[in-house]
Amino acid sequence: MSIELPEAQIIAEQMIRTMLDKIVKSVELFNYEKLQKIGFINKKIKDFDKLIDCKIKSIDYRGNVIRVQFNKKMNLVLCGDYGAQYRYFDKGEDLPTKIHFKTGFTDGSHFTIRQSGMGLIYAAEDNEVPNLYVYKRDFSDTPSPVGEHDFTYERFSELLEEKKQNIKAALVGKTAVVVGLSNAAFQEIIYKAGIHPKRNTGTLTEAERNNIYDSMKEVLNERICSGGKDNFQDLFGKPGRHVPFMGSNMKDKNCSQCGALIEKIAHGGGQVYFCPRCQK
Ligand SMILES: [Zn+2]
Repeated sequence: MSIELPEAQIIAEQMIRTMLDKIVKSVELFNYEKLQKIGFINKKIKDFDKLIDCKIKSIDYRGNVIRVQFNKKMNLVLCGDYGAQYRYFDKGEDLPTKIHFKTGFTDGSHFTIRQSGMGLIYAAEDNEVPNLYVYKRDFSDTPSPVGEHDFTYERFSELLEEKKQNIKAALVGKTAVVVGLSNAAFQEIIYKAGIHPKRNTGTLTEAERNNIYDSMKEVLNERICSGGKDNFQDLFGKPGRHVPFMGSNMKDKNCSQCGALIEKIAHGGGQVYFCPRCQK
């Protein structure tokens, strides 16, 4: 249920179509102590009261982060990379009980969050938003792999060549040349591009860099068009249809292209599944 770039985009677009101009009537938090201790929820729960009577002006997203901007200089910043369920309910619909956050709007509708892993639910004033770690991380100068027309293959290629690092470090995490990619997306991208997970970006040929760029766009766009990963639910509870073609679900299976047994290595702080024959 992790909310990565494709899923964050799906949720945010649905929020834009559904929740703009709504006015907050109530905000409640439940079972928040653990998240609060690690800094993922405001230290002062009273901060959330500042959202009451505020109207949703805009909703922006980048990488895995969603920023809901209200009038009166207030914001709700959300990040669910390690697992979250964001849901919207019309007036009169039954609300889930296992949740961490609930806001009611003046028209009787609700927005709820269930955080199944670490992740941010933060009420912040305009001037505090740029200091939030995940906001700084994803609303940054680092290009987004989808949705930005000026992020061309040429630019991607330059960034890969400049860094000369392992391909995973180049695509996922702090040292990545793009925002929002996870280990799950990484495994699919390099499988599709025919690249071994341990390759250094300095050894990639022009054709290989091109394959990685195209695969990255294809994998992410396909996931967005399929309504997200199969273990994800959208704002209205509809499950995603994207079944990963490489990753832990390929354990003990054979490559669909060449028939070789899929292998697994511990790499870059996670398990990476790959085809030893197709990926060089
Ligand atoms: Zn293969």
